[in-house]
Order: sequence, then structure tokens, then C-alpha cells
Amino acid sequence: MADDAGISSKDLMIGAACLGGGAFGCYIVNKFVSGGETKCEKQDVTFLNDPIKNYPDLSKHSNHMANCLTKGIFAKYCNTITPNGVTLDQCIQTGVDNPGHPYIMTVGLVAGDEESYEVFKDLFYPVIKERMNGYDPYSMKHPTDLDHTKLKGAVLDVNYVLSSRVRTGRSVRGFRLPPACNRAERNEVERIVVSALSNLKGDLRGKYYALKSMTDAEQQALIDDHFLFDKPVSPLLTCAGMARDWPDGRGIFHNERKNFLVWVNEEDHTRVISMQRGGNMRAVFERFCRGLTEVEQEMKKQGTQFMHSDNLGYILTCPSNLGTGLRAGVHVKLPLLSQDPRFEKILVAMRLQKRGTGGVDTEAVGGIFDISNADRIGKSEVQLVQMVVTGISRLIEMEKRLEKKESISDLVPDFS
Ligand code: ADP
Ligand code: MG
Repeated sequence: MADDAGISSKDLMIGAACLGGGAFGCYIVNKFVSGGETKCEKQDVTFLNDPIKNYPDLSKHSNHMANCLTKGIFAKYCNTITPNGVTLDQCIQTGVDNPGHPYIMTVGLVAGDEESYEVFKDLFYPVIKERMNGYDPYSMKHPTDLDHTKLKGAVLDVNYVLSSRVRTGRSVRGFRLPPACNRAERNEVERIVVSALSNLKGDLRGKYYALKSMTDAEQQALIDDHFLFDKPVSPLLTCAGMARDWPDGRGIFHNERKNFLVWVNEEDHTRVISMQRGGNMRAVFERFCRGLTEVEQEMKKQGTQFMHSDNLGYILTCPSNLGTGLRAGVHVKLPLLSQDPRFEKILVAMRLQKRGTGGVDTEAVGGIFDISNADRIGKSEVQLVQMVVTGISRLIEMEKRLEKKESISDLVPDFS
């Protein structure tokens, strides 16, 4: 074999094409052994990544990344890497491969590390603004409030609400995020988190179950009961690189009653979840705030910091989760209201989103939906849960009216 560098067939390539460089410089290092001597060659990566020829075809796309990635922004950053080695292409690939739909706008962008949000902010900030109801990270600050006692009227009608859940995510500073981390980083995050969780006490005390040590039946039982994430098959996740090495480094911690859970290394380093059957969002939120605070304290004792900034709040993989990372939702029966042509607009006007009860990307069956807050940033945890509680109460009120064949016009928010 001979190549442009003149390496003979006896030469042993020991690391072709390692991306290297300073904070923003970028070059390829070709490292090889020639005649017993290790040699390195630098090659300007711009030769390989032509900003014009590499601009993706986004002509049929309708996701937020595609809306915001101009040729100018691509040209400016296509040869930039973050200090941890994350490229713009790693961040946009999921949005390039999944064009989306005008009515189901996906984000189309993930962060490979904390610095992605800063280094590529010319792209991330407009996407955040578009996706997060006008929140402008250039000028706004994100508030945090975990005082559960402020929540009002949070016990919902169990004739309609089957289960209640609040979750957030936290990322461990210094490690790349699931789309870009390597195996060693992923395993180290798992070790730190599991070690912290082993110190939880009282009703939060529990056990960690690594995915790779579970039987298929055990795993499926947890998935069927809505406690555990499924193997990512959605192209939105796989194209983002989040299913690499599955199931290595992934797992779930839960307490005995399975109402406090922590997912490890799914879409985020950690997801902290409080849930239970029925409509008592007050109890769910109380346990969420207490559990999250204790998990944070235990992780800090391990020397861990969370990724956080004043304007972006808690930093997570998907820009749609920045801020609180909080999704408060219920599985709720709305068979009549969901048939009303105004249903979608009502939800949008209330800043709520719907999913099927099988989780994101699943269809609702039998008029039962997972309804939760659409936004995560610019409002505190308490404010978001309150919005969901107030919104769900109003949706249930509408459903009851429709059962009695009465008008709901006075309850429908103004979406003109
Ligand atoms: P997340 O926002 O936590 O990533 P997903 O839509 O990916 O949520 O769903 C993850 C799992 O959580 C699924 O099994 C889903 O059924 C379950 N889940 C979500 N909300 C609720 C709820 N209110 N009650 C019960 N299970 C829920
Ligand atoms: Mg999910």
C-alpha cells in the first residue's frame, strides 16, 4: 500500500485521521509508524470539509435546525470543533437525516457537549428562540424554583387522569453528552451517578439495574409499566448517535415503590423522574423536588458539577429541554375533546403538548393522551407544573361539558 504521504506497505497506520487542534483550530493528524519511528502529519481539514460542497440539502426540510442553518453559519462553523472535539455535523446530523413535517416540527439539533451551545451559538440560539416560544438566550435569564408548596389545586380528577409524572434531566460537567460521548465517558458517568444514588435514604432508597444485566423479560416489564425507556429505534435518536454501544452504560435506578426513578445515559446523562398512578400531581411534585435536591447533593459530594448557565438553565442534550428540563405530564382520557377540530389549537394556546401513552413518537390510542408542558425554559419548575395542572383541569372541564352535550366555547382559549 502506498498513499499520498508515501507510506510503504511495511508502515503501520496506528491512528489515521484523529481530529485535533486547539479550541477552535482544526486539523487532521495522520499518525503512523515508519521504519520504527512514529511520525505525525498535519493536514488542513478544510480540504476535506468544503463549506460549499458540504452544505446539506435542506430544501425539503421543516425542522427548526433547517430553518436556522444558513449557508453562512454552516460555512463559518463546519470546520470548527469544540474543546472536547464535537463538530457541527455531529450536532445537525439528526436534523439532516430526518426532514420533519410542517405540522410536527422537530428540533433537528442536539448538543454533543456543554460547549456546543456556546461555540455554535449562532445556530443554537435562533433554534432555541424558535422552538421555545420566543425565549431569547442572548438577552434573557432562566429562573429556577423547586418550592413545591407554591403549587395550587394539584389534585386532578382520577376519573380522567390515569397517572401523573414529572421528570427532568441533569448533565455531568466535563463529559460529552450522549450523542458524542465515548464508551469510557459513558461508563464513568454511570459510575458517578450510581455511586451517588446508593446514598439516598428513606422512601428514596433504591437499587440500580444496569440494562445489560437485565433479562429481556425484566426489561420489557419495566417498559410496559412506563418506568423504563425503550431501546432507541426512532431515527430522531439513532441519527443523533444516542443508540451507540447500546445497552452499555445504561440503566435505571428506582426506589422500592417505583415512584422515584433515575435513568442513566439514555438521551441525557441522567433523567430524574417522580411518578405515580392517579391524579395527585401535588404528591408527585413534592417527591420530585425533594428527590432531585437529594440527588444533586449526593452528586456534588462526588465532586460533580451540573452543566448550567444563567441564560440556558440546566444544559441538556436536546435544546428543547434546556432551562428546567422539566416535563410534567399526565395520562388523561379525553375521548370527546380529542375529536373536536379545535383540540390541537387549544393545546398550543395553553402551551401544552400531546404524545401517545407509549412515549414520544407514539400514537394515542382510545382517546388517552400524555399531555405535558410544551416549554421548559423561561419559566420556573413551579410555574410550569402549575400551567400543566391548570391546563389539564380545564381540559377535563371541557370533556365533562362535551359528555353532557354542552358548549365549551367559553372555556376555549383565544387562539385567533
Ligand atoms: P420523556 O419526556 O421522559 O423522555 P417519553 O415520551 O420518552 O418521556 O416517555 C418515556 C416513558 O415514560 C414512556 O414509557 C411513557 O409511557 C412514560 N410516561 C410519560 N409520561 C407518563 C405519565 N404521565 N404516566 C405514566 N407514564 C408516563
Ligand atoms: Mg424520551
